[in-house]
Parts: sequence; structure tokens; C-alpha cells
Amino acid sequence: MTRLSELEPTFSDAQRNRFYLLSASAYGYKGRHKERVELVESRLSFVKDPDYRVRFLYQLSSGYTSLGEYEKALKAINESIILLPKLTNQIAKVDTLQAAITLLNSLRAYDEALVYAERMLALDVDVERSSSRCVGMGDLVEINFLKGERQKARSLLPDAISLCESQGRKFFALLLQTLACIDLIDSGNYQQGKGAGLALLTEFSKTTQSSDYLTMLEEAMARAFLHTGNLEQAERYGLQAYQHAKSGNAVQIMEKTAETMANVKRAQGQFAGALEYYETALALKNRVLDDQLHKNLSYQRVKFDSQDKANQLSLLEQKNKILAVERELEKKSNQNLWLVIILVVIIMVLVVLWLIKTLQQKNQFREFSQTDGLTQAANRMHFMTSSNDAFKMRTGSMSIILFDMDLFKNINDSFGHATGDWVLKNVCETIKTHLRKEDLFGRLGGEEFGICMPDSNQSSALQLAERCRMAIAMIDTEPSGYRFPLSASFGVATVDSNGLTSFDATLEAADKALYNSKAEGRNCVTVYR
Ligand code: GH3
Ligand code: MG
Ligand code: MG
Repeated sequence: MTRLSELEPTFSDAQRNRFYLLSASAYGYKGRHKERVELVESRLSFVKDPDYRVRFLYQLSSGYTSLGEYEKALKAINESIILLPKLTNQIAKVDTLQAAITLLNSLRAYDEALVYAERMLALDVDVERSSSRCVGMGDLVEINFLKGERQKARSLLPDAISLCESQGRKFFALLLQTLACIDLIDSGNYQQGKGAGLALLTEFSKTTQSSDYLTMLEEAMARAFLHTGNLEQAERYGLQAYQHAKSGNAVQIMEKTAETMANVKRAQGQFAGALEYYETALALKNRVLDDQLHKNLSYQRVKFDSQDKANQLSLLEQKNKILAVERELEKKSNQNLWLVIILVVIIMVLVVLWLIKTLQQKNQFREFSQTDGLTQAANRMHFMTSSNDAFKMRTGSMSIILFDMDLFKNINDSFGHATGDWVLKNVCETIKTHLRKEDLFGRLGGEEFGICMPDSNQSSALQLAERCRMAIAMIDTEPSGYRFPLSASFGVATVDSNGLTSFDATLEAADKALYNSKAEGRNCVTVYR
């Protein structure tokens, strides 16, 4: 061990764990539990692997139990129980549960011990190789005996023994048979008990001499011989049991054996010796009771602690759940808010689009209602109203030009109506190129058109009319499919000249001037004077 500890710095984690475990159990064998516990405590925080951790915890709980520090022992066991589901090694699981059961039995927490025994039975892994069923059944038997449930224990015994035997667990079978034998003696079957006991003692002599079960058997044999009158044998087994109990520091068995020995001594008539044993038994009883009280208190405290922790944990869990639900709710309401916002935006966009579309349609309808379909010039009604408006709002003079296509009927007759339409369209396009932005242009009917010129005197109106006349005359009709001459006759009138004061009068004057142009031989401009 000393040589090994020199090598410690070179160990891997697993090697170091094994080294510490070995050292701890070596301390345990030597009864140096304080050092054992200190050693384990110094290493425990580094041991994360559950399979190793439970072995350390076992050393810890076993050490603390030996030191009488049951609270710490229980805490170590509880932690190892929590680690159970994480264990990969089945033997480690069995050992962990067995350590818990042994400790709980010594604390007389039999019901809890039973729970772990059932858990051990439920492991049931790889029945052939695992000892879990034999050990678990054995535990059930022993716990029931400890609880005082003799009938239950007896009913389980045969199955438990045959199971352990069939699994080759001879030693376990021997221990169970020992329990059965002690039960026989405890219930007054001394002859039967003695016979069975002698056979078992022979079996024990082949395996081990240091087992609490052997000591208990020897004590029971002493009673059996005492009750059947063989005081010599009674004393022999009683002394053996007492020695074994003493060297094993099994106080409870020691106390029971001392009482049995006192009874033997009394039966032998050695009252002084009997008294001595009685006194010893009494002192031991006090120790046992003290220890038991101490154990009970520790157990209750740890139980309360873990209950409290469990309560706090479930409270925390509850809080976390509520928090999670709240968060979920908040997320949902945020999502809903976004949905509402998106919906509102979509609706607003749709409304705006609808408005634009409606306005566009309205504009389109208005344009339709104001425009001449063939030439795209203003129609008669629109030309009249807007010219009238312009007349009312005029600041200076204003002129009106009217023109009418010459001999248009002939064009229709000679080249067809479509050619006539072509002419009307091309004439309008040509005229538009000569107009100012503020001039109004409209088709007054058939092949007659009007131009309203705000802020325009007679001479500029005359000039425009002349330009338009020439432009019409210069239109190339070839693209219509026919070549023919085009001309129009113009009439010009200006407000505030020649006594023209109203719009209607000016319009009429322009018409008269146009009529004059026709009369003059067409393709000319006449100014109303
Ligand atoms: P003038 O020089 O005296 O004005 O002789 P004109 O033939 O032009 O006069 P008239 O009033 O006798 O004939 C006008 C013709 O214009 C009659 C009509 O069929 C034609 N017209 C009117 N509107 C349209 C139209 O939209 N398309 C076509 N192709 N012809 C039209
Ligand atoms: Mg005409
Ligand atoms: Mg006409």
C-alpha cells in the first residue's frame, strides 16, 4: 500500500479511484473508520462516474455506521440510492441496495428496507448470473423475521433457500437455513432446532467462523441445550457465542448472549456468575437502547430532511411549471399581437389599394365621360363646360377657333368610313402638337372641332389657326392606304373685340367666321370682325 501511494501521482482517474477504494476498505477491516471516512470524503468530490461513486458512498456509509454517525451514513446511502438508475454495473446496483437494506435494518426502518428488497427483486437481470433474486428473497425473509412477522418469513423461507441453492449461492442458503433454525428454537422446537443447528454449525466450520449469523446460531443452540437440560453444551455454545459477539463488536447479540449465559449459570447454581452476566447484560441493554434511540433520532431527522427537500423540490418544480406556462402564454399573446398587427397592416394596405383603385376608376370614368372615344380629344359637353369655366376665370382676352373638315363626306364615300376615321384621328394628333398646355381642344361633332385659347388675342389665335390649317393640309394620307388631299376651314373669334362679351356670342362668331371660310372656297382662315 505504501509503495502504491508513492505511485499515486502517475495514476489514471480509474486507477486512483480503485486505489482509494482499496485503501478505504483496508481501513475498514482494521477498524480505522475515522481514517476511512476522511479518506473517502477527500476523494468523493472528484468521483463523477456513478458506478465508482456508489462504491465510495458505500465505504462512507459503512464507515459512518461504524462510528455511530447514522445521519451521515443515511445521507450517503440516500445519495447512492438516487444514483441507482445511472448505474451500468448490475453488481453495483445489488451492492448499493444491500447496503441500504443493512443500514435500514439496523435502524429498525423495516418498512423502508422492504421497499428496497422489493426493488432488488425487481432488478431481476440476467437471472442466471445475478445474485439479485437470491439476495432480495433473503432480505425479505430476514426483514420479516426482524419485524416479528414470523409467519410471513416462514412462508417465504423454502422458496428463498431453494432459489439460492439453485443459483449456487450456498453461503446465502446457509444463512437462510440458520434463520430458519433460530426460528425453530425461538418458537420452542428445541429438539428439532438442535438437530438442524448441529448440521449447520458443521457447514459453517467449512466456510467461516466470523459471521453474526453463526454467533446468533450459537446463542440459540445454548438456549436449546439449556431448555433440554444439557447445561454443559449450553455453556459451551453460550461462551462461544459470547466470544464471537465480543470480537465482532455485535453489542445486541452480546447482550442477548450475556442474558442466556446468566440463565445457564443460574441453572448450574452458580449464582455469582449468573449475577455477573446479568449485570453485563443490563449494561449492554442500556448501550443497545441508547444506540437504538440515537439511530431512531438520526433516521427520523434524515427522513424529515429528505421529506423537506422533496417538498421543496416539488414546490420548485411547480413554480417552474407555472413559469413555463406563463412564458408560453406570453409567447402566445405576443404572437397574437403580431398577428393582429399584421392583420391591421394587411387591411390598411387593402383599403389603400381599394381607394387607389376606386379613385383610378373614378378618374377613368370621368375621362371616359369627358373624352371622345375616336380622337381622344375632349367631347362636346366637356369642351363647352371647361371653355365656359375658362371664360369666367379669364384675366385677359380669350379666343376661340372652330374648324370643319372640307368635303369630308367625299372621303367617306370614296375610301370608306374607316379611312374617314383614320383622317379624324390623324388630324387631332397633328393639331395637339401645335397647342399650348393651357389651350382646350374638343370635338364638337362629326368632323368639326374647337380650340379655346385662354389669354390669347386675335392675332395669336389667327397665327395658330393658320399653322393648324397648314399642318392639316400637309398630312400624308399614304398610311391609310389611299393618297388624297386634306384640308379644313377655320373660323376665329376673340372676346372683347367687335362687341363680343359673352362666351356663347364668341362661339357663334367663330362659327360664322368658319361658315365664311367655307363660302370663300374652303381651306382658309376667317377672323370674325
Ligand atoms: P363641307 O366641306 O361643306 O363641310 O362638306 P362635308 O362633306 O364635309 O360636309 P357634310 O356635313 O355634308 O358631311 C359631313 C360628313 O362627315 C357626313 C358624315 O357621314 C361624316 N362623318 C361625321 N362623323 C363621322 C365620323 O365619325 N366618321 C366618319 N368616317 N365620318 C363621319
Ligand atoms: Mg365638313
Ligand atoms: Mg360639318
